[in-house]
Amino acid sequence: MANLGIPQNTIAVLQRHQFHTQKKYGQNFLIDNSVLDRILRAAEIGPQDCVLEIGPGIGTLTQYLAEQAGEVVAVEIDRNLIPILEETLAGYGNVTVINEDILKVDINRIAEERNGGRPIKVVANLPYYITTPIIMGLFESHVPLDSITVMVQREVADRMQAGPGTKDYGALSLAVQYYAKPEIVANVPPNCFLPRPKVGSAVVRLTRHSAPPVEVEDESRLFALIRAAFNQRRKTLCNAVGNAPESGMSKEGIMAALDRLGLPQTIRGEALTLEQFAKLERYQEKGDQR
Ligand code: SAM
Repeated sequence: MANLGIPQNTIAVLQRHQFHTQKKYGQNFLIDNSVLDRILRAAEIGPQDCVLEIGPGIGTLTQYLAEQAGEVVAVEIDRNLIPILEETLAGYGNVTVINEDILKVDINRIAEERNGGRPIKVVANLPYYITTPIIMGLFESHVPLDSITVMVQREVADRMQAGPGTKDYGALSLAVQYYAKPEIVANVPPNCFLPRPKVGSAVVRLTRHSAPPVEVEDESRLFALIRAAFNQRRKTLCNAVGNAPESGMSKEGIMAALDRLGLPQTIRGEALTLEQFAKLERYQEKGDQR
């Protein structure tokens, strides 16, 4: 089987099938073997693993995964890629390709059927236009997950890893860090893809926490509070939350909670740690008792 990590081989496959990449699907195919090796090393795939790949494209990363994993399930939205995948993955008996939109697939069912409900590993060079819904969907639907190792836009990787008080810190940082430990494992320049994207990329590994690092009464209320804080990030937390009834907290409530935590009334959400947001969420529930 031709190695698709070599640009000439990818070009030959695309030409033979008269396939033209589609921007609307975020199609930037990997053409660099050292990057593919790096993704595989970070994902720590072994024969016992069931891997979900999102967007296999022409099967470049899929071939690497199939060499090492016990089983690979690859979900691809573009039906024009299916005949190509049939050709490039013909030699691999442990790969199943599903022609579907990943945002509509029941991933819990895949984990149940393919891996007996045990944690799966997600590995992908993601379509950048839906990075956040894909990652948050995986976490929020409580798919049994061991890790997610994905290529994303560099800026998004920075946001996932950012801590309080930095410009990149926001709702995505807090949500990702609530569920997992993020780690940027490689920076990847545009020339490693065909066609070249306009932005830099990074491989990020998210290792799922076995238990959330903070205690909350109600996860959805924690995230409503975080969203309210960052929807108006230049405002003080009191004003941002006061202007957002969906946060479930009043301006007075947040002022009292901040007081109790020993934090100034002028503080902005971007200065609070995940632990402090969790305490504010718990304070809503138990009032004066904490
Ligand atoms: N894995 C291939 C590689 O590394 O060369 C292709 C990666 S490309 C950045 C993203 C892939 O995701 C494309 O094949 C695209 O068609 C597919 N895709 C886009 N939106 C999708 C969706 N909603 N569900 C499943 N696949 C999708």
